Amino acid sequence: MVENFAFLLPVVLTLFGVAFLIVARFGNRSALSWGGGYLCAALGFLAPLLQAVAPVPLVAMTADATFLSAFLLYSNGLTTHFDAPRHLALRLGIAAVAYGVIAYAVFVAQSLRVELFVSDIACSLLMLVALLSSWRRAATWVDRALLGAVIFVMLETTVRTVVFFIMAGSPAMDAFIGSSYAFIMQITATIGALLMALTALASVALRIVERHRKASEEDPLTGLLNRRGFDQLIGENGHAGKNDAAIIVADIDWFKSINDRFGHAAGDEAIREVATHLRSLDWPGVAVARFGGEEFIAYLPNCRLQDAHMLANTVRLALSEQDLGHIGIDHSITASFGVAVTAAGDHTIHDAISRADRLLYLAKSNGRNRVVSSAADKAHHAGQEAGVGPKGPNLRVI
Ligand code: GH3
Ligand code: MG
Ligand code: MG
Repeated sequence: MVENFAFLLPVVLTLFGVAFLIVARFGNRSALSWGGGYLCAALGFLAPLLQAVAPVPLVAMTADATFLSAFLLYSNGLTTHFDAPRHLALRLGIAAVAYGVIAYAVFVAQSLRVELFVSDIACSLLMLVALLSSWRRAATWVDRALLGAVIFVMLETTVRTVVFFIMAGSPAMDAFIGSSYAFIMQITATIGALLMALTALASVALRIVERHRKASEEDPLTGLLNRRGFDQLIGENGHAGKNDAAIIVADIDWFKSINDRFGHAAGDEAIREVATHLRSLDWPGVAVARFGGEEFIAYLPNCRLQDAHMLANTVRLALSEQDLGHIGIDHSITASFGVAVTAAGDHTIHDAISRADRLLYLAKSNGRNRVVSSAADKAHHAGQEAGVGPKGPNLRVI
């Protein structure tokens, strides 16, 4: 049974190693470390096979090298996963010192006890460094489960090795292979290794899914939300047009001619500049999206019309005063803005967006480089007046 079990473990570890390497192909760096770690551990458990062809001390040194490498890679996977300080020099130092002491224990002191103790404690220390570095960065329950599994592995390794160190006499190295200690060691180490592998795999997979979800909701040119991301965010916030909120719609003026005169690449840079101005809108909970080519939407929760109007005008002024020489455009650019607020009869936030759009159209038809806002109940009227310009007393034009 011992032999069967010993055979199964490297197979399972190898499968996990390969699974991590496959996941790493989706661009996850921590999966690469985890994969390498599990493959090293699999090799470590296969090391006793070398006994047929190599002397025991050499087998022990090989096994310890692979286990230390495995834990170096696990600790690397953990810090990479959490984007935490890696403390690479410290971890390499721990591994190097431990390996030196192990060599002394194997070749000089010839103490299996000391060799196992140092090897296990060094592995625990490597995980402890990574754990302390990553501790506060767990964002999801899967991340926390991974940290829990790491703690289990550390405790299991430490308790097992301390108990063995205290209780055991000095069994000969030859007698160790196939002993019941080796069997128990394999069971507990297997539980720890599988727990850590499953939680790490789940954490890494979730990270990848989350990255793709974010990418699908983000405009790659500006980093702002795209229309899908905007709808998702507003929907998640439960906005059905009922809460007080303001909408600013902005569109760059004469943008076709900017593209024509300075080229599409300069046009892209100009879009990025406008995005930067809108991103710096100083309002709690503001969400800014790029809806179309050079059209932007800002959603300002709990914002009154006059405050939104003032904020839009701040952006308009800042943009019109900005020198764009650094992106190859020899004059400043301007944008027009429509500002509206949500109203009691709205079904969704898109009702307010439609009103802001009509006001933007008014801003365009009245000469551009201006902000037009209107209370919701007057907006429809204002839209009807678009052809002749804003005249009603409730329209504000700057
Ligand atoms: P107006 O003042 O009336 O808004 O005039 P305009 O020329 O800006 O007209 P419009 O808003 O319709 O211009 C849209 C142009 O934006 C058309 C398209 O060539 C350009 N455009 C759309 N998306 C992009 C983009 O991603 N990059 C660049 N460089 N140009 C884009
Ligand atoms: Mg335009
Ligand atoms: Mg446009």
